Amino acid sequence: MAAKIISGTQVATEIREEIRKEVVQLKEQHNLIPGLVTILVGENPASVSYVTAKQKTSKELGFYSIQDTQPADITEEALLALIAKYNKDPKIHGILVQLPLPKQVNETKVLYAIDPDKDVDAFHPVNVGRLVIGEAKYYPCTPYGIQQLLVRSGVKTEGAEVVVVGRSNIVGKPIANMLLQKAKGANATVTICHTATRDMAFHTKRADILIVAAGRPKAITADMVKDGAVVIDVGVNRIGMTPEGKAKLAGDVDFETVKEKAAAITPVPGGVGPMTITMLMLNTVKAAKVAGGIA
Ligand code: NAP
Repeated sequence: MAAKIISGTQVATEIREEIRKEVVQLKEQHNLIPGLVTILVGENPASVSYVTAKQKTSKELGFYSIQDTQPADITEEALLALIAKYNKDPKIHGILVQLPLPKQVNETKVLYAIDPDKDVDAFHPVNVGRLVIGEAKYYPCTPYGIQQLLVRSGVKTEGAEVVVVGRSNIVGKPIANMLLQKAKGANATVTICHTATRDMAFHTKRADILIVAAGRPKAITADMVKDGAVVIDVGVNRIGMTPEGKAKLAGDVDFETVKEKAAAITPVPGGVGPMTITMLMLNTVKAAKVAGGIA
């Protein structure tokens, strides 16, 4: 039987509606408007399009938002000074620095300079540490989106065998850490696979929930998936161009064959992707509440 399709587009729309209502309430009851600055260095087309989408969403949701574009040759010192300025700005609750940064700037130094309370990407080591010990203020956006997709689709995580393929700091490690917490929407038994894993199929075939963030098209084929598993495909791979000249995207999972075996699966596009920006918005609302002393 073909799998249920878990639509990130639909779940993201639901969450955005909830955010929109909360923004109105925050303004009415606390005179608080969530403020987000997106800092873009240079004109990398992919970065421009990500930042544009973030700005568009934050405006649609009623945020106070600033797009701060800096030249590609900005010095590290100048970028750190800019972050210090936004750290102090009471109207700004969330600071997002779009990566990658040019070579003359130390990316780590820049991310570590963001006030952890304004770190809506949750990449600062303080927020990573909080997540690991089960005291997170913010969750990184893509893993947060994955967890919400599971919870809002009614997938039971408690006691589930979860296998995560990929151990990056932005997807694999945080989602594994989140799902192993003794908490609602978590409490799973988690295994992480990577390129040194000896027999990946041995692990993936045991998974009740298989989360794939490898960045390799068809890294997961039907023979590697258990009957009735829930499959979350995080991968976004450009595999060519459409006749209209748009990038043709594919995930890391062989969708056509795996959907015949899984109980539920996310498509690419339209799965995890739309959730990521939405969770950034949710983190910004949380940051505003933290600043306003109501969270
Ligand atoms: P990454 O930093 O390149 O990490 C990939 C991970 O997968 C690494 O840990 C790597 O292992 C592992 N891996 C690669 N090939 C493998 C294989 N054949 N078998 C087992 N493990 C393998 O990637 P990322 O940043 O986590 O992103 C992963 C994918 O998700 C990419 O396609 C990216 O575009 C997509 N993504 C999507 C969103 C979204 O919003 N939809 C957000 C973030 C990322 P090693 O550590 O051993 O090298």
